[in-house]
Amino acid sequence: MTDIAQTLRSLASNLSWCWSRDGASLFRALDPERWETSGHDPHALLAGLDDEAIAAGVARSGLEDRIAELANAQDAAVASDESALLVGALRARPVAYFSMEFGLHESLAVYSGGLGVLAGDHLKSASDLGLPLVGLGFFYREGYFQQSIDGEGWQQEAYPRVEPQAKGLRPALDASGQQVKVSVETEKGSIHAQVWELRVGRVRLFLLDSDVAENDADDRTLTARLYGGDSRQRIRQELLLGVGGVRTLKALGIQPGVMHLNEGHCAFAGLEAIARRMEDEGASFEEAKDETASQTVFTTHTPVPAGHDRFPHELALEHLRPLGKRLGLSDDALLALGSEAVAVEGKGKVEFRGEPSFCMTVLALRMAQRVNGVSFLHGRVSRQMWQQLYPETPLHRTPIGHITNGVHVPSWMAPRSRRFLDGVLGSDWEQFQADPDTWAPIAEASDEDLWDLRTGLKEGLLRFVRERAAREAKARGESADVVKALSRALDPQHLVVGFARRFATYKRATLLFQDLDVLDQIVNDADKPMRFVFAGKAHPRDEGGKKLIQRIHGIARDPRFLGKVILLGGYDIAVGRALTAGVDVWLNNPRRPLEASGTSGQKVVLNAGLNCSILDGWWAEGFDGTNGFAIGDGEVHRDHSLQDAKDGESLLAVLRGEVAPLYYERQEGLPKAWIERVRRSMVTLGWRFNADRMVLDYARMAYLPAAGVQLAEVR
Ligand SMILES: *Cc1c(COP(=O)(O)O)cnc(C)c1O
Repeated sequence: MTDIAQTLRSLASNLSWCWSRDGASLFRALDPERWETSGHDPHALLAGLDDEAIAAGVARSGLEDRIAELANAQDAAVASDESALLVGALRARPVAYFSMEFGLHESLAVYSGGLGVLAGDHLKSASDLGLPLVGLGFFYREGYFQQSIDGEGWQQEAYPRVEPQAKGLRPALDASGQQVKVSVETEKGSIHAQVWELRVGRVRLFLLDSDVAENDADDRTLTARLYGGDSRQRIRQELLLGVGGVRTLKALGIQPGVMHLNEGHCAFAGLEAIARRMEDEGASFEEAKDETASQTVFTTHTPVPAGHDRFPHELALEHLRPLGKRLGLSDDALLALGSEAVAVEGKGKVEFRGEPSFCMTVLALRMAQRVNGVSFLHGRVSRQMWQQLYPETPLHRTPIGHITNGVHVPSWMAPRSRRFLDGVLGSDWEQFQADPDTWAPIAEASDEDLWDLRTGLKEGLLRFVRERAAREAKARGESADVVKALSRALDPQHLVVGFARRFATYKRATLLFQDLDVLDQIVNDADKPMRFVFAGKAHPRDEGGKKLIQRIHGIARDPRFLGKVILLGGYDIAVGRALTAGVDVWLNNPRRPLEASGTSGQKVVLNAGLNCSILDGWWAEGFDGTNGFAIGDGEVHRDHSLQDAKDGESLLAVLRGEVAPLYYERQEGLPKAWIERVRRSMVTLGWRFNADRMVLDYARMAYLPAAGVQLAEVR
């Protein structure tokens, strides 16, 4: 009987359980209460039970066959050589995907928001598609932070510390069976790290961890928190990720065919790869740089100028001089690699922005021959942002393209939606999800079936929101009346709108609240009531973001809005998943064009919800007039307060004039025009904005050319 416990542990050790059809439901069935208290962490669940208790739980719930089936499927998937893509060309030399964060599941808190979730989804689709790829990142023992909201509506951060073994990580082993350790020199001593391995389906993810005895106290906590430290800590993290990442691959005997830098944080990887080429092949700096760049892909994510890492020269030199020596570069030549100043014929050297600094995005642009933004619009904005680095090149030829982001369908589609689509599309549809024909039969799904799906999903959300909102209110010490109102909040008949993401200022979380009297009319309309659920995190040092949370908290406690505008704390992947699965409408109102892509609205498409969004990021290319709602018409004003006022007005007008009437217009008891819009949303958007399509685009447009594969070789 202990075999069954062993099988379950082995299932938990590969994260593919979290997107297989029966993984989470199986662990939940074993012990529903522990499953919730463990934060959906199978390792914690199993650690709390001895083998006998596990065996008893399995027998009691009759799980033997399901466990065997899942274990077989997992083994087969990991061993599989099958691939929708060619495996051969990159097999011996995989893609090495570097990222500061990976958002794979709520039980592994090494992500902060969209960037991390994107990286996690990229790994999962690479695994599904059989694309040879390994990931490199950090294991943060204290994560980003755990959020709660206090009685004043102020965000509180907690940093529970977890050990890598408790999360099912195993030491990454070198050829001699030793855990890989890497060191990276700076001018004032070295930074050391050990490396852990996590299985993500067929993909291996390597996570560096600086909590080793060789480091001094400061460096032992270097990788304790994501985005937690000052500039000095940040550049040390980035040095460790880039240089240490490349050294990790070397120690593991992995020779990457392509390096993919997910955001500029990891750009130092390029310098280490160049130095290695010079040492191994006797190449000159220029030769090694050209060759490295030809095999490097860089994805930039940030149209917000302040969002790019910039380091003071002195800090950069302290950390780069040892590399500079190996590269044969003077201090000036080294600093030039990250300089936004460019020599223009006849004008000398021109500094473009503020204080002279070392910019990681500039370095990444120079380290990679293939560069892309993450939506059509973001590609254009990025070309404008960086064209000054290419003074000889006309704007439209600035070498930055775009590959629009997508989401991992099995991770973001609710089980109910997945079963529904299995019925409509056939059980193997997920394998062909990037093909428009695959989704076309949804056009024939009946109004009744689609509305049943929608209603069922919304009921799941209502339970989630009530339980959580009431529990949080109680913990904050709110009155019994408030707790009671929240525990009965929402009604499946009502139109429910959701908004959840990082509380970065440009995302304008409070745009809805420009006119509370109009909001009152919208929310409390006797015939067409509307409900709102908000969630999201502000960076611990972002007072402005925290004030936005506080404002929403205040409105949520206003008697006009109590139980009708709801703010949830504890934002994480699980909250995001519940909201994007259950809401009727997903609201996104960033200040155009600052939302590089956005992905949360793509999750809503998968669950028969509709988007109501500013024409920015992915929505600027996804919206076609029939498949959701647009706020504004894509206008941009230099004056932010003018733009915010106009967009805020447009938002209220769309909600009141389009969204509510369409939702409440019934024929034979059903909102037929609404359901038609849902169909259009799924048919026109599902195949385009998923991570399989995204990874296939990276393969075709970036990885295969970078690996020197002729496209004719790809079937
Ligand atoms: C999908 C997701 C995001 C992305 O949000 P956008 O505002 O659409 O970029 C952020 N955080 C979490 C937890 C997510 O799951």
